[in-house]
Amino acid sequence: MIYRELGHTGLRVSIIGFGGMRFFEKDDATADATVQRCLERGINFFETGSYGAGKSEVMLGRALWKACKREDVILADKATACNLPTEDQVRADLEAALERYQTDYFDVFSFWGTNTPEMHDHILRNGPLKAVLKAKEEGLVRAVGLTTHARPEWIRDFADVYPWDMIVLKEHMLYTRQQETIAHLGEKGVGVVAMTPLAGGVICSPGQDLQTELDAAGMSAAQLGLRYLVANPHVTSVISGMTTPEEVDENVLAGETGLPLDDTEAGLVELIRRKTTALSETFCTSCGYCQPCPEEVNIPGIFRLWNLMRGYGNAAYSKLEYQKLCEQRHWADFPGCSAEHCIQCGKCEKRCPEGLPIMEDLKTAHAALTG
Ligand code: SF4
Ligand code: SF4
Repeated sequence: MIYRELGHTGLRVSIIGFGGMRFFEKDDATADATVQRCLERGINFFETGSYGAGKSEVMLGRALWKACKREDVILADKATACNLPTEDQVRADLEAALERYQTDYFDVFSFWGTNTPEMHDHILRNGPLKAVLKAKEEGLVRAVGLTTHARPEWIRDFADVYPWDMIVLKEHMLYTRQQETIAHLGEKGVGVVAMTPLAGGVICSPGQDLQTELDAAGMSAAQLGLRYLVANPHVTSVISGMTTPEEVDENVLAGETGLPLDDTEAGLVELIRRKTTALSETFCTSCGYCQPCPEEVNIPGIFRLWNLMRGYGNAAYSKLEYQKLCEQRHWADFPGCSAEHCIQCGKCEKRCPEGLPIMEDLKTAHAALTG
């Protein structure tokens, strides 16, 4: 297993980490066996939160303390930032999480879902950060972080205005929007943790064309997706939601093979990039020259989701993210307005270097993504 230092914290974490989001759905025996296998295979970094109304922390703590000592593992937990909590609420969330976990301290405690500049400002100015820094002085916390679905440029701003020890962000082989941000954070000495590395399982189910290529290379789509992230030297750890010992065995392979990617792996990543970004029908290069749209239609984002759906052969991720865009969720991967908001002003088409019939293609993409 490869280990990397988490920013400047002095904590050395396994490149493949354990994410506890769906852990509480398992029965106790499977949960215990999964954690045991993680420890046997060298995973020492466990990240969770109050998933399942806190059940994930209870189950993870119980499974860990049966199998190892507290100092053998690095635990990251978090308190929500979405509801703009007070200083007292953050303190109460921290104490409750420690109790559920049956531990005296967290190695990292993060503000969960810091998705907008307003939330980030609130954390810094209105008490939440003060609560965690006080807990740090008391030895209840060793490092402080964020978990976020914010836009890449906002995350760079977050790291520029406060020296976070760790930032957990969404990045995977089909998203690839955080490359510049990951490099920025890495160069600043922030520990970068990639979450949802398999796009909620979408990456595990490619279309038949890609599956044939993967079979020929003797690797699974999940392994390739994890290898894509592990190969980035600025990514400190990749947290994957493993729920069985078999999933652990498959995931750790990505952290045991040498770096950088070999020619076969790099070729497969490039093939997926080409298939999902540069389809002949809609050769949108995501250049962004069509922006801004007066109605804030996210033209490159919509075409990206449409191309992903057709190129990777799995519609689930694209349809879910387009639904979030339509509902203007603040954690959408592609924020802005949906194709329905287009008023046919034609400004974008005049600026598109590819000469795309954007107005017509937006209608087709909308139908496909909502069908
Ligand atoms: S034609 Fe539609 S998408 Fe293009 S700039 Fe105008 S409103 Fe925006
Ligand atoms: S200008 Fe054209 S190619 Fe560039 S992002 Fe917009 S639609 Fe895509």
